[in-house]
Amino acid sequence: IDFGFEDIPASEKQSRVRGVFDAVAPKYDLMNDAMSMGVHRVWKELTLTKVNPQPGEVLIDVAGGTGDLARTFIKKADEVRKRRGGPSARAIVCDINAEMLIAGTDARRDAGLDITRVCGNAESLPFADNYADALTISFGIRNVTDRPQALREFYRVLKPGGRLFILEFSTPPAKVLREIYDAYSFAVIPRLGGLLAGDKESYQYLVESIRRFPRQEPFADMVRDAGFARVGYEDYTGGIAALHYGWKI
Ligand code: SAM
Repeated sequence: IDFGFEDIPASEKQSRVRGVFDAVAPKYDLMNDAMSMGVHRVWKELTLTKVNPQPGEVLIDVAGGTGDLARTFIKKADEVRKRRGGPSARAIVCDINAEMLIAGTDARRDAGLDITRVCGNAESLPFADNYADALTISFGIRNVTDRPQALREFYRVLKPGGRLFILEFSTPPAKVLREIYDAYSFAVIPRLGGLLAGDKESYQYLVESIRRFPRQEPFADMVRDAGFARVGYEDYTGGIAALHYGWKI
């Protein structure tokens, strides 16, 4: 199914994206594991190593979904805190979809962690200027309608010296890997979505949105255009995913 997002009004795209995530929210973690064969956990771990959380820092995890990145951010800052002291870090999970936030709220997993959940749109973040030390968005930017506007918002809410990290599916630069990956994603993922979540069409949409997302260099240019400095990216698993980063200076 091709929703033809390029041809429909932005407001409608937003509601369709919301619909997709309403449909998948409860099975989201299970599907994530099945789709990437667990590798998304490794990509998030690599991302957090690069983020390098420190005691007392504030993280905003935009499109944070069930909040696993936010939890690990605080735990990693706590490891540093045990050695060097300092205040706890805290994290705010911001997601447009309340179902997603509810699915992620888990008293046991959140115990002892300073996590707040806020329903909000990446394009108009509900935070003051110069608020956060770090902002992450993992597998979320692809679904944002007005990406330049979201990137400007990320810049606005970061403190001077703050850092941005965007983890997203990308395009393997090597042709052979690209072809294998294309075959896998178009043939296997929608079927898995049908089997595990009973929702083949939503996963078909996810595959197509990955294909339409800009490649590494053009996306790095968009991050630069929003004002970020020292912009770069690293490919994960041959470019199946990429981490873009930049600093507000
Ligand atoms: N970050 C989580 C992770 O890596 O597991 C969740 C990723 S999930 C694929 C994408 C998330 O983006 C969903 O929770 C969805 O509700 C959220 N989302 C989509 N459009 C958004 C927007 N404009 N603003 C904020 N969140 C959005």
